[in-house]
Amino acid sequence: MSATAVKPKTESFVSTTNACKLCKPLGATLVFKGIEGGVPYLHGSQGCATYMRRYIISHFREPMDIASSSLGEKQAIYGGGPNLKKGLLTVMDKYEAGMIGVATTCLTETIGDDVPGILKEFRKEFSDLDMAPVVNVATPSFSGTHMEGFTAAVRAVVDQLATGHAATKAVNCFPGFVSCEDIRHLKDVFDGFGLSATILPDYSETLDGPAVDEYEKITSGGTPVADIKAMGGAPASFEFGATLSDPGEAATAGGLLQSRFGVALHRLGLPIGLRQSDEFFKSLEAVSCMPTPRRHALERGRLLDAFVDGHKYVSQKRCVIYGEEDLIVGLTSFMAEIGVVPVLVAGGGKSGRLEKAVHAACEGLVPEMPEVADGVDFYDIADRARELAPDFFLGHSKGYRLARELSIPLIRVGFPIHDRFGGQRVRHLCYLGAQELLDRVVNAMIEKKQTDSDIGYGYI
Ligand code: SF4
Repeated sequence: MSATAVKPKTESFVSTTNACKLCKPLGATLVFKGIEGGVPYLHGSQGCATYMRRYIISHFREPMDIASSSLGEKQAIYGGGPNLKKGLLTVMDKYEAGMIGVATTCLTETIGDDVPGILKEFRKEFSDLDMAPVVNVATPSFSGTHMEGFTAAVRAVVDQLATGHAATKAVNCFPGFVSCEDIRHLKDVFDGFGLSATILPDYSETLDGPAVDEYEKITSGGTPVADIKAMGGAPASFEFGATLSDPGEAATAGGLLQSRFGVALHRLGLPIGLRQSDEFFKSLEAVSCMPTPRRHALERGRLLDAFVDGHKYVSQKRCVIYGEEDLIVGLTSFMAEIGVVPVLVAGGGKSGRLEKAVHAACEGLVPEMPEVADGVDFYDIADRARELAPDFFLGHSKGYRLARELSIPLIRVGFPIHDRFGGQRVRHLCYLGAQELLDRVVNAMIEKKQTDSDIGYGYI
């Protein structure tokens, strides 16, 4: 199938309709929320922080504070430095933050505030204060997606905090934007191999915590700052992402640690499905010098058994997969493994690496490569999906209207999941994640058949 079948927008039609991506600093705020004592701080207007809070809260169903330098018209003209400094002092005083992560917005990038320079002045002016570390990242939303903001923030944290510390035993893990349940599962997997792991970010507790009797200004959990500082002494880093920049460019946290401190890097696609999970477990065996624990070997065996059992329900079903680039690469390869035909793989990002990554992930699994479209919105996806007539969608809640229009199931994965409960507890990774996704796909096909049937099937 042609890789250009999604019609490119004409010069006279350049607007975006229901974007298939989110705002760049939103990704950065999630990273800062995954650091112990971390407070995300947006250097921009209040509206940006309000939009991001609303988005994050409706998926995670947890409180999400995002501080803001609250710029107005005056600061848009004269610069936002004084507000940024004032806001930082307030956050330090009111929250007793362990770390503050400052991300810029469209406004502050447009007016050209020199945030690193302002922070340098701030540290000098208040050098008598016992200050929490302040990390900054440039996240102009007009030039990227929430995933690019996320990746840039992870890199900024490592760049500005990690040192050439003495050798440690803990390995580093940069999983990318996965669910809280995925992070918990990764910890469990590392633990099974006898490896202690510093996972950055770790919002598995800060954004999916237990009910507490007393209000906490900053929810407990998150990657400890001391562990981030020690990342330069780790024996190895695991970094997930099939569309990330070349590690040699040091454009990601793993690449940076490799080039600056010589930390061995294991760059892998997100371990979604059998093949990518196998790759991850092989790397774990190499780093830990131990075989895969029996319980994971059993999970793998059960997954294979389920592939056989479920085949008659999913074989040759056609699906459209959309969302964040790294996630959709993993999902596409998994769908190909179980006999589903991915007819369209679409994302809002413009890394330029999506098509190559999808083709590499599907190599040997499909007779014909899926159609791949990057830099598209839901207007483009809808246009093409109507022609392709898929049996189901695999993606986040923003595809719901289209799924409803086409009367096909939407299997919700990734972020945001606003219209279902438990989005933060969806597991995507490793053999267990694949098992749960497979069960959902098979059951969605069975349910659709029952619903569409005139007679109804009680036994199917
Ligand atoms: S103005 Fe820019 S930074 Fe603010 S919410 Fe909109 S896209 Fe995000």
